[in-house]
Amino acid sequence: MAKEDYETIIGLEVHCELSTKTKIFCSCPTDFGGEPNTHCCPVCMALPGSLPVLNEKVVEYAVKAGLATNCEITKVSKNDRKNYFYPDLPKSYQISQFDLPLCHDGKVNIELENGEEKVIEIERIHIEEDAGKLNHDEYGRGSFVDLNRAGVPLIEVVSRPDMRSAEEAETYMRKLKSIFEYIEVSDCKMQEGSLRADVNVSVRKKGDKLGTRTEMKNMSSFRSIVRAIKYEASRQIEVLEEGGVIHQETLRWDDISGKTFPMRDKEDAQDYRYFPDPDLAPIILTDEYIDNIRNALPELPESRKKRYLSDYELSMKAANIVTSSKYYSNMFEEAIKVCNNPKSVSNWIMSDIARILNEKEQEPDEIPFTGEELGELVKLIDDGKISSAIAKKVLEEMFENPKSPNKIVEEKGWIQISDEGAIKEIVTKILDNNPQSIIDFKAGKDKALGFLVGQAMKETKGKANPQLLNKMFKEEMDKR
Ligand code: ZN
Ligand code: MN
Repeated sequence: MAKEDYETIIGLEVHCELSTKTKIFCSCPTDFGGEPNTHCCPVCMALPGSLPVLNEKVVEYAVKAGLATNCEITKVSKNDRKNYFYPDLPKSYQISQFDLPLCHDGKVNIELENGEEKVIEIERIHIEEDAGKLNHDEYGRGSFVDLNRAGVPLIEVVSRPDMRSAEEAETYMRKLKSIFEYIEVSDCKMQEGSLRADVNVSVRKKGDKLGTRTEMKNMSSFRSIVRAIKYEASRQIEVLEEGGVIHQETLRWDDISGKTFPMRDKEDAQDYRYFPDPDLAPIILTDEYIDNIRNALPELPESRKKRYLSDYELSMKAANIVTSSKYYSNMFEEAIKVCNNPKSVSNWIMSDIARILNEKEQEPDEIPFTGEELGELVKLIDDGKISSAIAKKVLEEMFENPKSPNKIVEEKGWIQISDEGAIKEIVTKILDNNPQSIIDFKAGKDKALGFLVGQAMKETKGKANPQLLNKMFKEEMDKR
């Protein structure tokens, strides 16, 4: 059978660190980094006799996340102990939620490449504590435990196996990231491990029942997730085509070789022996509590998208991209206050800004200038002060040496030449040097005009006003 006869089935378990000030069961700070073992106390170090107290903010943030992803909220839930041994887990169990997650049966919409929408269902969102970190000594003297992260609150968002390609999985995870950024429950910094995914992959011949899945844990970049899914799907197809079987196992993705490897220990055989944590009271929520959180939710991307389509008449594609990130969307709204040109602002975001971020492998929250400054740039074009060719150079400069566009244009001497006398001088010179183009133009070859304008732009390093050039080239050629 050919590869095209198979389909890939993907489900994600996304872990997201909540941006509460303090940890989930003690009052230690959740700040990233810091000297090892300085954000710790007897509770998060699991010293004998210490007792956990649930941080109410964690419940509030998790309910917020549940409501924003269309989940049902569980009014009576509890914390359970998930027992396993690992050196970064000082209690030898993780406090999580087993059969009664705080949120369940949600869904989010994702936009596919072909413009269609697809619903990805969320099975559950539960709260749990993060583990510490092991730092492996580069001289082989051993591994050192850092418990700063132990007890940082997490939500785990478990999707149903609804995704059918690496691209869909990426789009879904980006959507979750965007929603959590909009509602401000997490900074979602993947480079700091605030957002990471366990990726489940299986393949099946179209129409067959679900195949056996493998799992890749703790993936924390979109690029690796996409590569790993593609590799793992084709590996599974190859095994099946050769008559082999897929074993349910945990794999390790190696970014350098671009391959997956079985983990040495058989983690899947593990029995976590879940049981309710006797040190913590059940979590009981009232309708009033849930409604208050619902009513305080900020405007979500779906609603912003509708507004951009109707109020600013953006295209569906533009509205999707601009609302795909809170940072893009806020930038858009700030910029149009300055220049009142929503279409142009959305074009800059979709094309040049997205392209530069892509080249730099950066995310929208890393854009080094403000929405006002983007608005200023668009206004410079609209006022005829710079050409769009120059504006592209200004934008590059705004990324490299963030400064206001007005300042950049002034310092670099990039103001557009719109003086008729100066333009005429250039036009005359170019025409004198290209007599054949005049003949071509008069013979009806419109391309010749484009060529002449291009020459003039080259001569002026892109500073000449293109509308004026067009007009004056035509006028001058009529005279000759
Ligand atoms: Zn603590
Ligand atoms: Mn988990």
